[in-house]
Amino acid sequence: MKIISIYFILLLFTSLAFAQQQTPQPVSLQNIVGNLYEVLDGRGARGGVFIGQNGILVIDSKQDENSVQQTIDEINKLSDKPIKYLVNTHSDGDHVTGNQFFPSTTTIVSHENCRKELFLSKRDGSPSDWNNSGLLSFVPSLTFHDKMEIYLGSKKVELWYFGIGHTTGDAVVYFPDEKVAFIGDQVFVGRAQLIHSYKGGNSFEHVKTLTRMLETLEAEKFYSGHSDVLTREAVQNHINEMKTLQEKVKTLIEKNKTLDEVKNEFEKDQERLIEVIFNELIDQKN
Ligand SMILES: [Zn+2]
Repeated sequence: MKIISIYFILLLFTSLAFAQQQTPQPVSLQNIVGNLYEVLDGRGARGGVFIGQNGILVIDSKQDENSVQQTIDEINKLSDKPIKYLVNTHSDGDHVTGNQFFPSTTTIVSHENCRKELFLSKRDGSPSDWNNSGLLSFVPSLTFHDKMEIYLGSKKVELWYFGIGHTTGDAVVYFPDEKVAFIGDQVFVGRAQLIHSYKGGNSFEHVKTLTRMLETLEAEKFYSGHSDVLTREAVQNHINEMKTLQEKVKTLIEKNKTLDEVKNEFEKDQERLIEVIFNELIDQKN
């Protein structure tokens, strides 16, 4: 009897988890400070909204029409100003697929390499959906190289590029008055960092890029696409953890361990990251 009830409880939890995957929690806007909000839930990564004097800037676009509509509905509850800018922090689908559901009057902005990456083949080698001419209006039309400043009335929003890492085109959206930075997927906490080597991402550059970010910005809060808000210390811890992983893989390679032997020394969920680091170290040797 006990076993049967445990079985049913397990079944209930699995189906609940499945249902949750099917229909995510509706999008909500959580106030950070002043007119700055974090965009939570819906399908796709976390993002941001800033309501300026004469227009609104959105950071990342969610992944489906429903989630974009929910985001716009939530914005409309707070303001009737137009959504002037949508910034894509990088080219991953959970941050950019929703672009096509934004008003056609919204200017889409990204780092120049993010725009390029959208046209690259997918991880499995199949062609990018962005080659579809219907999507051309929703590819970022305004790009930058090192830094860009966007003014919403008297309010300045800074877009920074600190280098290659998670991809080749990760932008940081920085609000200097609030000391708040939106960093896309450049720091994961509680799960292995993604480094998209098929897009040109690199874990050793990632460490340098994040170090440059901490040196350059006086940000105190870092909003990530898939983690709760991070302190400077948490970003520094992430950098240190990456360096520790790299050192450990390096030592194992020096002992002539194969990729599979190296992977066995780490947690199962770190496998993909370990393989990336392994391949980078082998490339560095050659
Ligand atoms: Zn993401």
